[in-house]
Amino acid sequence: MINRREFIRRSLLVSAGVTFGGALGGLKGISAAEEKKELAAPLKLTLDGRIPISLIIDDPSPGLNPMNVHRPESNTDPFIPNKLIHDLADLFCEFGAKGKFSVVPMGFGRGRIDKHLDGVSDQDVADFIKVVKDQIVPLFDITPEILTHGKAYDLKNGNFFDEREDKYFSHISREIMTDYIALSLEILKNVGFDANGVTSPWSLGKEKEDDYSWAILDAEKRVYDRKRTWYFLHSDSKCEVLPHRVMHRPVPDEWVVSIFSGGIDFAWQTQEGKPGIEDAIISADGKKGRFVDLFNHESSITTHTHWQSLYSKGSYAGLVSLRRVFERVKQHLGDRVIWTKCSRLAELVAEKSV
Ligand SMILES: [Zn+2]
Repeated sequence: MINRREFIRRSLLVSAGVTFGGALGGLKGISAAEEKKELAAPLKLTLDGRIPISLIIDDPSPGLNPMNVHRPESNTDPFIPNKLIHDLADLFCEFGAKGKFSVVPMGFGRGRIDKHLDGVSDQDVADFIKVVKDQIVPLFDITPEILTHGKAYDLKNGNFFDEREDKYFSHISREIMTDYIALSLEILKNVGFDANGVTSPWSLGKEKEDDYSWAILDAEKRVYDRKRTWYFLHSDSKCEVLPHRVMHRPVPDEWVVSIFSGGIDFAWQTQEGKPGIEDAIISADGKKGRFVDLFNHESSITTHTHWQSLYSKGSYAGLVSLRRVFERVKQHLGDRVIWTKCSRLAELVAEKSV
């Protein structure tokens, strides 16, 4: 076994491109399998003696329904009325829920939220942004979900490539990634958001995660002069303890942290007219579900759902499901958990990893 300090040192070296086993011939007799296990050693985190819990909301884009673009065969309306943002913000405030809320800067290639989105009135965009600022920002971190959450944007000429952003990021350089992420941050900055982290659309970045995570830190430095940042790319619905981790720490006060979701969008299927599966998150009696499993293993608790899952093709069944999750967390986990922004969770990861 290696101690925590050695584990961190190795993590940093691995982040810097140094591998053990092969390169150093198995340090101190540790097998490659053991090293891999140690490098993935998850952290048990607490905040004020309680277990942090965070909700991740992916895909919000003023007035637009991502399902219409991503699954045209689903026959969904391309637009989502602002009733959803108002109702959702009220629900967050009622329960004091915290986490991360995406705002897509150039939703599906329909324009920029700091200029104009095709098909959405400027008044609706302004109203959406105001609700997010007034009610959601105090509780949730705002991140871009990179730029379009659709086809990749050509920074050179303003056209769109014929491939999705996730495919594009599998073959571009760290420098182009940085410019691309920086544009997404600049657009959010232009409308008054302090985006302290980044969300990956789909699994964008996973093929070149080392470059990608560096690019996020570089872009945050450039746009916001921020030296500590985080991102959401990975989801793990089975592990006992969520393996959030420091990806890079070039100097002690600079870092980029990868925050994991505990998985399961309990409301996704409400888009098909089915009820939400909030029992998979926390059952009515509070004894089963992903949240309960994570809690019982003293893991931090996260899950993610989607803007379109909460809209549920206009029935808002996903919102009902989310309310049940909040009620059950309050009733059964109560003061033993604490709603936490993802940026705060990232700080806890960085603090505990020293
Ligand atoms: Zn997404």
